[in-house]
Formats: sequence, C-alpha cells, structure tokens
Amino acid sequence: MEKVNCLIIGSGPAGYTAAIYAGRANLNPVLYEGLQPGGQLTTTTDVENFPGYPEGVNGMQLMDDLRNQAARFGADLRGGFAVAADLSSSPYKVTIDNNQVIETETLIIATGAAAKYLGLEDEKKYAGMGVSACATCDGFFYRKKVVAVVGGGDTACEEAVYLAGLASKVYLIVRKPYLRASQIMQDRVMNHEKIEVLFEHNAEGLFGDNGVEGVHLVKRLGEADESHYDLPIDGFFLAIGHKPNSDIFKAYLDTDETGYIQTLIPGNPRTKIPGVFAAGDVADSEFRQAITAAASGCKAALEAERYLSAKGLI
Ligand code: NDP
Repeated sequence: MEKVNCLIIGSGPAGYTAAIYAGRANLNPVLYEGLQPGGQLTTTTDVENFPGYPEGVNGMQLMDDLRNQAARFGADLRGGFAVAADLSSSPYKVTIDNNQVIETETLIIATGAAAKYLGLEDEKKYAGMGVSACATCDGFFYRKKVVAVVGGGDTACEEAVYLAGLASKVYLIVRKPYLRASQIMQDRVMNHEKIEVLFEHNAEGLFGDNGVEGVHLVKRLGEADESHYDLPIDGFFLAIGHKPNSDIFKAYLDTDETGYIQTLIPGNPRTKIPGVFAAGDVADSEFRQAITAAASGCKAALEAERYLSAKGLI
C-alpha cells in the first residue's frame, strides 16, 4: 500500500491550488484528477473574472496553467477516480479506481460540485453554444440578448436578476405555479421590468442551427389544457441546483441536507477530522467561484502543512 503525507482529490481550482502550495511546502502532494481533469471550468468557454487575465482566458487554458504550475512544484498529478474512503483512523485510506488504496496523513477533498441538468439531449448538443449552468461565468456573452433561466429557487432568481443586468430580456421557466426562493428574491424577480416569469412551464428541448435560437416549452404539463409552443432565446441557463461530490465521505464528515461538507468554522477548510480538509465547491454552497475555490485550496494546503509539522512528519 502506498503511503503519502498529502493526498488531494480533485483537479479544479481548489485541488490544483492546494497542490501548488503543498508542492512548494515540500509536502510531496499526490493529486488524483478524477473523471473530468480540470473540473467544471473545462466545460465553459472564456473565463473573464479570474484575476490576472485582463483579456480573459479560455477555461481549458486556465486549468492547464494551474496544472502546469502544480507540476512545476513537484506535485504528483495522476489520473484516477476516488471510489471509497476510510477516515475512521489516521492514516486515512482512499481507494482509487477500485483497486489501489492510498494511505495518507492529510487529505484535501476538492471534489467540487456538479450543476444539475434537466437531462435533455439538447443540453449536450448545445453545450458551450448557448447552454450554461453558470450565469456569472457566461452571462457577459448575452449582453442585450434574450435568455431563459430554468428553476424557481434562490439560485435561479439570483441568476435571473444578474442576467437582467446584462440581457435585454430574461424568461424564468418555473415548473410549479410558485417560486421556492426566499421572499426577498421573489420580490426582486417579480418586480423586475426585464424579467418575465413563466409559471407552470417546462423546457422540452432546444432548437437552432447556429447555437441556441429557441426553446420548446410545454405549459401545464400533464393537465387537460397542456399546450406546447416555441420561444426564441439566445441563451439557456440551468439553475436547478448543484450536487456536491461528497458521497464517499458522508459517513465520516458532516454535510448539509444537499451534501455540502460542513467545515468546523465557515471559511476555513478544517473538518471535524484532524488532517482532513474540504476545499472548493464541495464545501461551498454559497459562492462557488473559481477564485473562491482556489483560495480555499490554498488555505487547505497551509492547514495541511501546519498539521504535518505539528505531528513532526515534515
Ligand atoms: P433549490 O433546490 O432551492 O431550487 C431548485 C429549483 O429548481 C426549484 O425551483 C425546483 O423546482 C427547480 N427544479 C429542480 N429540478 C427541476 C427540473 N428537473 N425541472 C424544472 N425545475 C427543476 O436550489 P438552489 O440552487 O436554488 O438553492 C440551493 C440552496 O442554496 C437553497 O437552500 C437556497 O436557499 C440556497 N441559496 C441561497 C442563496 C443566498 O442566500 N444568497 C443563493 C443561492 C442559493 P421545485 O420547486 O418544483 O422543486
């Protein structure tokens, strides 16, 4: 069984930043990149709000840069997906790809969260061509255009209001006859002149020869007066929730009702298990930004260094 001092699971901004810091601190970090090396940002187009890139940067390029920076400081970056964890006692054990068990003194969980999609074939067909699950990432590309947001919770309302600051018109597609969001967000949406809420609507598909040009809608699905029509739009935003990738750690760590790992102190990656840290979106239901994830990866590596040093392991 391989034994390491610092194991990082996940290859988004949190994981790679943790690897940069841990590498520079001579912790000899081993990082497993998971199913989607580079994480969520590799599925977006340009990232314009990551500090240091005044002209913006392609999401794939940004993650390549972070990866190369981690490699430069000696991080051992490996392909592999964590399928099980045993955090019952130190050193902790993580199983990679069903057969390899790594023992580690410190574990940085940076497995991220995945935006939920409706499951329509067209969401894949138009990925990066008008379909997005992140308004703050992609909203800028829809200035003075018409967009639709799917969802009726706080995220959907926040994204609709954010997009209304850029787009000429925002449709909010809500499957129920009411919003689930907090009252203040409901008021903001209902009172916004650029936002039109389509209650009791579901999206059935998208159309367009050159990216998304419209959405096929169904009104009052399953009711006697069910009706179908097409709505021209330029962008289709999903805001129906995220699923944090925390399943294999849930038996040992506290999570909220959605599955976000709860750290001991908000804003600090320490969990209730000494030497186990949670960084990035897997522990952040609120901000979920590349830069906040990177910052928490940095904190996790610094905490890991302190922990190993206090134990006399480095
Ligand atoms: P929620 O789970 O609260 O809302 C998801 C929304 O998406 C619901 O309206 C739901 O509809 C709808 N939805 C889910 N699946 C589908 C589907 N297949 N088709 C159509 N609609 C669907 O998720 P959020 O991300 O909005 O919020 C998560 C948590 O984070 C909440 O507790 C929220 O309050 C919190 N939050 C807080 C913020 C803040 O305080 N600033 C900002 C953002 C989130 P239905 O109601 O019918 O189930």
